[in-house]
Amino acid sequence: MPLAYLNLSLKMTNKINIPDAKAMMEFGGKIADQFPQGGIVLLNGDLGAGKTTLVRGLLRHLGYEGIVKSPTYTLVEPYTLEQNSQPSMQKWGGVPSVIYHFDLYRLADPEELEYIGGRDYWNSNALCLIEWPEKAQGYLPEADLEITLHYQGDEREIEINKGDISI
Ligand code: ADP
Ligand code: MG
Repeated sequence: MPLAYLNLSLKMTNKINIPDAKAMMEFGGKIADQFPQGGIVLLNGDLGAGKTTLVRGLLRHLGYEGIVKSPTYTLVEPYTLEQNSQPSMQKWGGVPSVIYHFDLYRLADPEELEYIGGRDYWNSNALCLIEWPEKAQGYLPEADLEITLHYQGDEREIEINKGDISI
């Protein structure tokens, strides 16, 4: 069967089953491949749904080997990736490449984003991954991709709310 048909049917469902944390990390890698020029990715989902796991997978895919944990108190964590031996990194071209990981769970007031210089992050051509975007509703730029991670027992399901992802 031509591959194009497969892609079409996956997009039409808009739901992707993620059986375990490893699969969530792999899905993060797909996002990395899709946004070598940067972009805004919103990650919805309850505590423990796997948002940070996805970001960890994305960074690992690009060859980052350090610790990745949610920046719950600092709101944002920057990662600067040097060109490395990962084939996935070749796509990214310009070095160094910057990824900003936001966790807005503790944002008391969306205007706090102004204090931390939110606008400078969005306008930087970096890839911005934003957990708890609803805490800053109306203060975030338009998303290139928005997804929601849902619990399904021990598994998870990813719903694509906005944009497309090639898997
Ligand atoms: P969040 O950032 O959404 O609060 P985390 O990624 O920090 O969530 O935590 C998710 C937890 O759930 C991790 O401990 C991870 O190992 C576990 N987990 C179990 N199954 C899955 C799955 N299918 N996808 C993602 N994480 C899973
Ligand atoms: Mg998290």
